Amino acid sequence: MHDIVLIPGDGIGPEITKSVTTILDAAGADINWIKCTAGLTAQEELGNPLPDETLDAIKKYRLALKGPLTTPIGAGFRSVNVAMRKKFELHSNIRPAKTLPHIESRFDNVDLVMFRENTEGLYIGKEQWVKENSHAESIAVVTREASEKVIRSAFEYAKKKNRKKVTLIHKANILKFTCGLFMEVGEEIAKDYPEIEYEDLIVDNMAMQMVLQPEQFDVIVTTNLFGDILSDLASGLVGGLGLTGAANVGDDAAMFEAVHGSAPDIAGQNVANPIAFLLSALMMLEHIDENDLADRIRQAVYLTLEDKSVCTPDIGGSGSTTAFTEAVVKNLNK
Ligand code: NAD
Repeated sequence: MHDIVLIPGDGIGPEITKSVTTILDAAGADINWIKCTAGLTAQEELGNPLPDETLDAIKKYRLALKGPLTTPIGAGFRSVNVAMRKKFELHSNIRPAKTLPHIESRFDNVDLVMFRENTEGLYIGKEQWVKENSHAESIAVVTREASEKVIRSAFEYAKKKNRKKVTLIHKANILKFTCGLFMEVGEEIAKDYPEIEYEDLIVDNMAMQMVLQPEQFDVIVTTNLFGDILSDLASGLVGGLGLTGAANVGDDAAMFEAVHGSAPDIAGQNVANPIAFLLSALMMLEHIDENDLADRIRQAVYLTLEDKSVCTPDIGGSGSTTAFTEAVVKNLNK
């Protein structure tokens, strides 16, 4: 039995969580869900977006499946996602983007995995007012240690999964110290993996290459903010945010979540696509070596995608979250 912390999250979080736990339970996953709360829901219920009970549970069980959390824009509390990644040293954010059967998208053969540094860089919001309301600044921190962790994770993944190439993305022509250091670490680590092809690309060129010819990419590794933007782009290449999962992995803890946010515009309408969150849960099953179970569920999802009457509207279906869930459960034994 695996003890796994379950955080349903905000907006569409509870709906997609119900879908995913229903499917995993029906497939016979031997999981004891430890239900916890975080985000706006926790702020409203307990006056704290990241309650101690939730932190203690993750600290104890070291594995979590987390729904999307709402972060207020501008004022209000800072991102709980960012705080959790930092607290549990989840140094690598892993986001695969793979063409799915029966899903219309502009490309037929995308199969890439993005590794994004998850604990530093410009993204973590180390900001200050130089002069209130007229001059603000933001500091990007890049360390050798964090760069090594994510870049080595990307190469180790490539080796384990028999991938052929790692592409490192940077802006070292302009950000000579921060991105320069990241790139230097990449070049050093690449030498330990002579069997894997290594290249680096400047981020603006990468943005163009990804929309022109995404099939050329295999494993990609980059800093936090570039990874945030490029991984959404990667989701777009295979049909959208409702179709890509993600893992936040550290040396001794891991948290699995969908790439998309809490989608408040469609919350409570039974139209949220649970596939992204389900694919994250399958990454979690693989993380705990339940590979056969993950494969069985993945095949049931692929089979279900054939029937548009049960799929959610974002992928051209006329069904709902619950109709999709029921169909996947039925297809588990086919
Ligand atoms: P979003 O991802 O929530 O939504 C963007 C668009 O995609 C919306 O039109 C939404 O309806 C659609 N969409 C997203 N997920 C979908 C799904 N599963 N099925 C169908 N359609 C889906 O991004 P946003 O609107 O920029 O952010 C909303 C909130 O989510 C913000 O508070 C943001 O901070 C938060 N957020 C959280 C996470 C996270 O918890 N990991 C990630 C991104 C954004």
